[in-house]
Amino acid sequence: MGIRTPVVGSAVGPAVDSEVAELVDKAVSDVRLSRDEAARLFALDEHSPEAFHLHWGAHRIAWQASGGQALIYAQVGIDARPCPGNCGYCSFAAASYAWEREAELPLEDILGYCRAFSENGVHLVSLMTTSVYGFERFLETASAARAALGPEVALMANIGDFDARQAEALREAGVDVVYHAVRLGEGSITAIPEERRRETITAVLDAGLVLMSGVEPVHAELDGDMLLDRMMEVSSWPQVCSGLSRLRHVPGTPMDGTRLLTAPRYRQLGSLFRLLAGSRIPFGSENTCWCNGGTNPRDRQMFPGNEQIAHDVTRQRQALEENGWQVPDRIPRQFGYRR
Ligand code: SF4
Repeated sequence: MGIRTPVVGSAVGPAVDSEVAELVDKAVSDVRLSRDEAARLFALDEHSPEAFHLHWGAHRIAWQASGGQALIYAQVGIDARPCPGNCGYCSFAAASYAWEREAELPLEDILGYCRAFSENGVHLVSLMTTSVYGFERFLETASAARAALGPEVALMANIGDFDARQAEALREAGVDVVYHAVRLGEGSITAIPEERRRETITAVLDAGLVLMSGVEPVHAELDGDMLLDRMMEVSSWPQVCSGLSRLRHVPGTPMDGTRLLTAPRYRQLGSLFRLLAGSRIPFGSENTCWCNGGTNPRDRQMFPGNEQIAHDVTRQRQALEENGWQVPDRIPRQFGYRR
């Protein structure tokens, strides 16, 4: 399916500033924007025609980079135990633990989710734990999940920090992808040194694991220069999928009252990130969606059991297809999720 070029400056819509149009064209041509150029787009009014033009450019890049394909991801949250990471937005943080009681999925439930997600056509399953879930234990769980998923579904780990030797062990256990981010305000809104997060990302890449990351948590009280610097940095990392992740309020956590971005501003910044990432990162929020099972740091109770999965995956697939994306049966090898 082709993409129609929007009419710029015609009688049917307001003109888009020519400098902005040129910058968007440049990004669509896969030329990396400079920080000054990105700052020009960052400063746009979120309700302006130019901000909407960024959105068009982001969509076009996502389409070009993925060949019009979209993927369905699933997360299985394994535990909800008080975590010393103490991230100010997380319901598991030990200092502001927001769950009524500690929770952990038994292995048979984790594998049940894996089988159900795989059978229903999910492309990637992420196993997420707090930083107190033992590493050796995670290797055993990941290894069992690898077998339950079958050969075509990518397995992702979203766990605490680890070193180079542990990164190799994850690979050997069958993990393909690792989600890891250096959070905005790491070390101040969290109890984890920023350097430690960066070392883990280096270990991921050195071990030949595939990286997925993002800019998070994004909210309205961030310093603009810091946010833009981080967007420039993260969009330059080698990844299969990346984007912005907006702060969500979790009652009882320290960041519950933090001012949130408006939806148009979030869309503008997400689009700018996509322009910066270019086609080197084939997937982002435009062409992926998530299903959930187990625990979640943005919630205070378990998702219901895996009876809902067929319905959830079908709904997500339909939503992507209604937006014109093609959802492949299995993850295409060319994108490098599976070794
Ligand atoms: S976000 Fe992760 S590291 Fe931070 S408190 Fe929650 S589980 Fe721990």
